[in-house]
Amino acid sequence: MLAAVALCTLSVPTAAHAYCRTTTQPLPANYSPNRGCFTQGLYLFWRNACVSYSINHGASRNIPYDEAKRIIDDSFATWMNAACADGNAPGISVSNIGPSKCGEVRYNADSTNQNVIVFRDDVWPYDDPYSTLGLTTVTFNAETGEIYDADMEINSSARNLSITDQVPAKGFDLQSVITHEVGHFLGLAHATDVRSTMFASYKPGSAALRTLAPDDVAGLCAIYPNESTRVVSDQVSSTGTIVAALCDPSPRHGFSAECSTPKSENNCCAMPMPTASWAASGTVALGLAGVLVARRRRARTR
Ligand SMILES: [Zn+2]
Repeated sequence: MLAAVALCTLSVPTAAHAYCRTTTQPLPANYSPNRGCFTQGLYLFWRNACVSYSINHGASRNIPYDEAKRIIDDSFATWMNAACADGNAPGISVSNIGPSKCGEVRYNADSTNQNVIVFRDDVWPYDDPYSTLGLTTVTFNAETGEIYDADMEINSSARNLSITDQVPAKGFDLQSVITHEVGHFLGLAHATDVRSTMFASYKPGSAALRTLAPDDVAGLCAIYPNESTRVVSDQVSSTGTIVAALCDPSPRHGFSAECSTPKSENNCCAMPMPTASWAASGTVALGLAGVLVARRRRARTR
């Protein structure tokens, strides 16, 4: 426990912060952000200056596509409209590229993709369906930390998701859930400060997570200080930065609204699982970036 705290402090000697970045290493089973950031492995990042997402065309039985789109677009805009400490916008632009008929969480190593946002109305296919609100699965290059694909699932099966500004006392504010998951989409892990949108708990009846804490913005800007720079692990670049790729919001290998049939078996293992796993190619690993857990007894103050 002490070692983890010390590592975190050593890796960022200039300022104390509460945001944490997702790394290529899966979190240990007993990990808690209260002990500091988990910093083993390589930091994740999107290399391109521009990234896109697609909402599954069916949205949810209870939330029509247009409503879902408004809320999801607003949630991404909250991050994009943040101002870094230098007054400039974060160096990444994420846009809606249009609806996706495909609702599968996967990355195709040799065919078209989509960074899909999909509602799970009927069954939550993971552990803990009653306390989990969302899950973002990120596929990345395990040798660099570059994110190749991110897919977001929203648990609409057992949850009383709310889409109004006044959140019912027992309601779960969809925009708060999405805003939190967007942080994972961008490469952030759970924060150590309860005031952060990236803190892992959500108190029902609250819309507080819609608004970013300064620490959430600091985390985004720490990865994407400007549109031409990505801050990476020292093992990836001796300067700690690499040059971003010029703006192209298309997913890797192009966008398709339809599910693509892989040409080879190389991404046989691109399935959601609770720990990172290695694909057959040896360079791409799949990790679960984050689960937003609802804890009724844990008050969240701002
Ligand atoms: Zn989370």
